Amino acid sequence: MAKLVYFFGSGKAEGSSLMRNLLGGKGCELAEMTNLGIPVPPGFTITTEAWAEYYRRERRLPDGLWEEVLANLAKLQAAADLYFGDPKRPLLLSVRSGARVSMPGMMETILNLGLNDTTVDGLAAWTDNERFAWDCYRRFITMFSDVVLHIKREAFEGPLEAVKARLGVATDPEVPADELRKLVQDYKDLVLERTGKEFPQEPQEQLRLAVQAVFDSWFVKKAIEYRRIHGIPGDWGTAVTVMSMVFGNLGETSGTGVGFTRDPRTGEPRFYAEFLSNAQGEDVVAGTRTPEGIDGLQSRMPEVYGQLLQIADRLERHYKDMQDLEFTIQEGTLYLLQTRSGKRSADAAVRVAVDLVNEHVIDRDTALLRVRPADLNKVLHPRFDDADRARAIAQSRLLARGLPAAPGAAVGQVVFDADTAVERAKAGHKVILVRPETSPEDIAGMYAADGILTARGGRTSHAAVVAVGMGKPCVVGASDVVVDEERRQFEAGGVIVREGDVVSVDGSTGDVMLDAIETIEPQLSHAFREFLAWADARRRLGVRANADTPEDAAKAREFGAEGIGLVRTEHMFFAPERIAIVREMIMAPTPAARRAAVAKLLPFQRDDFSGIFRAMDGLPVTIRLLDPPLHEFLPNWKEYSELVEERARLDALGIDAQRRPRLDALINAVDKLREANPMLGHRGCRLGITHPEIYGMQVRAIMEAACTVAEQGVRVEPEIMIPLTGTIGEMKLTYEQTKRIADGVIAETGVAVKYAIGTMIEVPRAALIADQIAQHAEFFSFGTNDLTQMTFGYSRDDVAKFLPDYLQKGLVPADPFSVLDQEGVGELVKLGIERGRRTRPDLKIGICGEHGGEPSSVEFCHRVGMTYVSCSPFMIPIARLAAAQARIREIDAR
Ligand code: PEP
Ligand code: MG
Repeated sequence: MAKLVYFFGSGKAEGSSLMRNLLGGKGCELAEMTNLGIPVPPGFTITTEAWAEYYRRERRLPDGLWEEVLANLAKLQAAADLYFGDPKRPLLLSVRSGARVSMPGMMETILNLGLNDTTVDGLAAWTDNERFAWDCYRRFITMFSDVVLHIKREAFEGPLEAVKARLGVATDPEVPADELRKLVQDYKDLVLERTGKEFPQEPQEQLRLAVQAVFDSWFVKKAIEYRRIHGIPGDWGTAVTVMSMVFGNLGETSGTGVGFTRDPRTGEPRFYAEFLSNAQGEDVVAGTRTPEGIDGLQSRMPEVYGQLLQIADRLERHYKDMQDLEFTIQEGTLYLLQTRSGKRSADAAVRVAVDLVNEHVIDRDTALLRVRPADLNKVLHPRFDDADRARAIAQSRLLARGLPAAPGAAVGQVVFDADTAVERAKAGHKVILVRPETSPEDIAGMYAADGILTARGGRTSHAAVVAVGMGKPCVVGASDVVVDEERRQFEAGGVIVREGDVVSVDGSTGDVMLDAIETIEPQLSHAFREFLAWADARRRLGVRANADTPEDAAKAREFGAEGIGLVRTEHMFFAPERIAIVREMIMAPTPAARRAAVAKLLPFQRDDFSGIFRAMDGLPVTIRLLDPPLHEFLPNWKEYSELVEERARLDALGIDAQRRPRLDALINAVDKLREANPMLGHRGCRLGITHPEIYGMQVRAIMEAACTVAEQGVRVEPEIMIPLTGTIGEMKLTYEQTKRIADGVIAETGVAVKYAIGTMIEVPRAALIADQIAQHAEFFSFGTNDLTQMTFGYSRDDVAKFLPDYLQKGLVPADPFSVLDQEGVGELVKLGIERGRRTRPDLKIGICGEHGGEPSSVEFCHRVGMTYVSCSPFMIPIARLAAAQARIREIDAR
């Protein structure tokens, strides 16, 4: 068997950063820091290969592992100049998990290992601090019992709380040594009672059991759930790092903290840390005590503070990224216990990437690859309207003020547990998860919630770190909030808020307010714009927007759209005054009646198009002619049955002779138009071909609008797009009809607007005969919504009935309507591009299905040589970044 244990200590380590997969993130960075000469307590790391072998052998330690552990323990003792189990000066150990990617708080850690009834006295005498020694022993029994013996932590917290209540003290440090000694006896009795065995006293046995338990913690429920959410493979496994304990709870010159080299909420370049004096690390991470800011350390131990800042800076420059550090000060001496790339909000990710470029630490390409395109979604969060917030405060609706932990504004119903959060969110409600503090068991609920509020904990507590990563507005440590989980309510400032009541949570200020506060859209920061400008300079793929109104068009432009790739003209008819005319048009009994209805729509359309052209001055606008699945415009089932009922009522009463024939006509028309499968029915160019007056009106409206605004100095580039073509005949006919009317308008107005006529490729047949279609189409746009529907034969409207089951069974890797199916639908796209360009080498080709803003699909579009992608305005920044990343990766791969 290969080497299974790697040592670090006394300024030298066997491992390095490059051995992340083998030693886990924690283990490899401790090795790296040791080699950099940064003060790290000595220790050793058991590899993930040892973990894999342990599992292959059905949870038996691999041959030779224990001998290696003991040999490294001997080295560790020498480096620390302390001995494990020594009754006078005992070496104590921490045993920590560490996967190759950070899974904060998901797996187990045991501290103070090596304490027993003898060594506790040694520790007390050696440190001359009896209270400290018994406190360590108490904590150790609690942790060890929880992780190894599976006795829940709460079983030990009850007796501690009882002692505090009896003594009338509020905090743990106020509990004196003799009380802790008694508590330890109670704890040991509890272990005996629950397990039938004495608490293990032999240090090496403690170590062996702890190593196995940490191996096993890879499979605890919260870790599995975390891996599922983050797509981390289950066979990576965890390494185990065993290191010498250092103590943050040795009195006022000791303490512990966590820090980020930059602010993880905003990315601001300032050391952002939290510190607890006279405490151990678990107090900070678990959020059970609300930490002070770093100022406490600065004023108490300015030299240590200075050293910490220097190390932070050094580590950031070494790793070329913002770091998240864990440190402990033992009687004035600083030790680093961990460094890793810091989790950060999406805002901070962009800001840090931009700043590191400007500080000459990384280049622009590296910066662009540092931000996940989908995370940009989080930059686009809403915030509360100032005036409405001020009103709420004036009305005394400010319930509490906690620590602002993750930016953004959230409004929703209060729930008190993760399951209810998931349930209500599924039912379509917005919820705010309110907890005393969160733990990894709450992950699914946090995921489902719109916002998170905790009564306890600091800005680096579990709730805060997880929420920042998820991009969820979060307030922590709102100490005025008293949560009563039993009654499902909380009390704050004399107000009782019950489950289901609405609150507003501001993760940027820490405010918690009763009822809903108006929210407004975010403004994009300077760093964000700079970052996206770099993306723009790097990408080849154009980015356009799907927009149906002048307002959408303006928003799209603000987000950086370089044109509109799809105006769905049927969406312009959803307003109540228009829908009636559209119904009149599609149900018209005679061509004359239809022409009359169509004529009524013309001015609406012309105005809309003018507005869009003005908003997009200088940029191309692709307008698709009408493509309504007719059922969207017909009376729905309820309205239809009301008509039928009304007719029956009139028949029974025999009155209203005039209404009766009108009703008949209406019902007959609906019956005639109703389709068994509207998605494959009389839609797209089929409608335009059977009723040419409809497309005629639209082309006229487009060109009249274009000529009018062009005359006023607006630069217009209309692209008229025919939907759902599948045959050369359809394309040729619609092309000719369109051209005739467009040229007619140009002749009438005398304004020579340059326009193009093209088509959507969304019927598989069109992709297959794209070379022929291109004879009559000046551009293509892949409608991958319909193309997916027709390639899979999954109805867009009905797919939800079976898709969840398919996903769960792994029959499809993702929802093909959101992530482009590259091997099936993608092949048709490739074929369509290749054949289309065979006829017209310079054919402009885009995509306008929902996939146009999905990062992996954008990358595909880049690879197959599309001209642009088109997506909803909010997705545009994502598409811009994804397109840049696609190009950078392509260059890197060469
Ligand atoms: C498409 O089919 O991909 C498309 C963009 O058109 P619609 O979604 O309107 O059918
Ligand atoms: Mg379509």
